[in-house]
Amino acid sequence: MDKGYFIKFDDNSKELKTYNEHLKILKENEKVIWGQWSPSKKLLSKNTKEEMNKKAFYLYANNKDQNLLLKMHVIKVLTIEEVKSNNLTYLIPEYYREKIYCSAYYLIDKIEKYSCEELKKLESIKTGRNLGESGLKGNVNGSAPWRVKEIENITKENPLLELGICPNCFQKMTKVEYFIPEEDRKKYRDQDFTRPKVKYFCGYCEIISDNNKEFSERNYNIPNRLSPTEKQVSTIYLINQKMKLGLRPLTKKQCIKDIGKYLNIAMDKTIPMFERDSIRIK
Ligand SMILES: [Zn+2]
Repeated sequence: MDKGYFIKFDDNSKELKTYNEHLKILKENEKVIWGQWSPSKKLLSKNTKEEMNKKAFYLYANNKDQNLLLKMHVIKVLTIEEVKSNNLTYLIPEYYREKIYCSAYYLIDKIEKYSCEELKKLESIKTGRNLGESGLKGNVNGSAPWRVKEIENITKENPLLELGICPNCFQKMTKVEYFIPEEDRKKYRDQDFTRPKVKYFCGYCEIISDNNKEFSERNYNIPNRLSPTEKQVSTIYLINQKMKLGLRPLTKKQCIKDIGKYLNIAMDKTIPMFERDSIRIK
């Protein structure tokens, strides 16, 4: 299980500037420095820096606008003075190499790229809260790194409900790009209206799905005729409860598949060993 620290970063460029500039240096030098910037505050205390420098760790950096979660392997945390005295400034991307003084400079040798959906796999060590809900809120760049850990056996998104796959016929859905109409824009905060939103559509089942709401949970529009029965819904919730899964009851067909796959295992889990044997004897 990976432990580490979580920060947010600012970037609303069209070309994923922050990510790409760091990646370029990493590819050229096998290392890169990531600066956590704040205009006024010192975001990293001396104690936290010392704690971080005991051994390598992961820094999870999130940008909601770009739907980006970066998992970066940090070898060492440095101050600007340490960066300079070790002649490492060339590892800082050019666009802030000379200008901005950051709260912390993380020396990194590996960057993995994920979507914000993966925030569900992170939990704040201090509060125990899942970052799938809390990670996206709050100020960008404004807070000290949060101590986080990756959750084992996380609530898996239902494998039948992959993005762009219809939850009724399980065929690939049609991807549609669209813009939010002018009159509806007041309803949305912090959104970039110059970039299109994405919808998926199954013409056969008349199901629409989009991923734009909060990224943490996909949104589905499903006709009543395809919706699961009450019994299916409660069975799915029972399975979730027993097995700590995150299955979503969306359609009859998908419930049948999921219940078939998990119900026996789920029920077996609740019966202690000796009772199971005695049931068999009867
Ligand atoms: Zn379909």
